[in-house]
Amino acid sequence: MKGGLRALAAFLFAAISLEGAPFPAPPFYLQETQRYPGQVLRVRAQSPSLPAEHAKAFRQEASFFAEPGSGHPLALLAIPLEARPGPQRVEIGGRWLGFQLRANPVKPQLIRLSAKASKAADSLPTDKKVLDKALLTDGPPLWLGPFLPPSLGRLSTPFGAPRLYLPGEYRWFHKGMDFAMPVGTTLCAAQDGVVALAADLKAFGKVVVLSHGCGLSSTCMHMSRLDVKAGDKVSRGQALGLSGSEGISTGPHLHFQMNLRGFPVDPLEWLQFPPPGDEIHSKATGEKKPLLK
Ligand SMILES: [Zn+2]
Repeated sequence: MKGGLRALAAFLFAAISLEGAPFPAPPFYLQETQRYPGQVLRVRAQSPSLPAEHAKAFRQEASFFAEPGSGHPLALLAIPLEARPGPQRVEIGGRWLGFQLRANPVKPQLIRLSAKASKAADSLPTDKKVLDKALLTDGPPLWLGPFLPPSLGRLSTPFGAPRLYLPGEYRWFHKGMDFAMPVGTTLCAAQDGVVALAADLKAFGKVVVLSHGCGLSSTCMHMSRLDVKAGDKVSRGQALGLSGSEGISTGPHLHFQMNLRGFPVDPLEWLQFPPPGDEIHSKATGEKKPLLK
């Protein structure tokens, strides 16, 4: 009788446990389920060890890496600026994760180029090849902590604006953020990295591309002076050179761009605003001014 009771108790306990058991968590999930074109999809895994599966979307295949800082598995996919709004999905190990893609909220712009800028645009096909090659970087993540704006300046054009350039009728998206600033302003590395490109290009002016690992890069364009060369290792806040207005530019400014596997991504998702005052620029200039005032 005693044994029978024990068996009954064990059965009831098992039944209750089964009913009370949590629904097994999916092995992968998206950090955000609503995104805009140009933002990054963060695919996360429940397991603490790095999964062998790859996350696939938008003709990209992303492997997992240990997120700097937390150490948690993370895979990053860039949402192209041209991606159509509506329901979208990511494939991972034969499973699908859905998300909603919103329409690009940035207003279109008409840009009238000066004769000088228009001439610089003639070199675009050649210079774009040089730039695109440098943007396809890889390697382990080199960043720890936030990315910092390379300089202090007023935001003059946001990321992602659809643009029509006249004359010439070039149509493309604004692939970075523009900060108005006088020619000769010191520009600093947004993050630790390796110089993938330091070159003088007619279309973009003097340009520096930093590789931060995992296919992530940051680029400063229209510069008037370069203080680094390809292959240099740089640390966050280190001077890269001076701002300018060279290439396809309508006035003195910094064009700051971030790319993931060559796709332009919104720097606002990565940059810390306001930057910690005593870190940014203190190494290069000693300036400590508020940003975007
Ligand atoms: Zn720009």
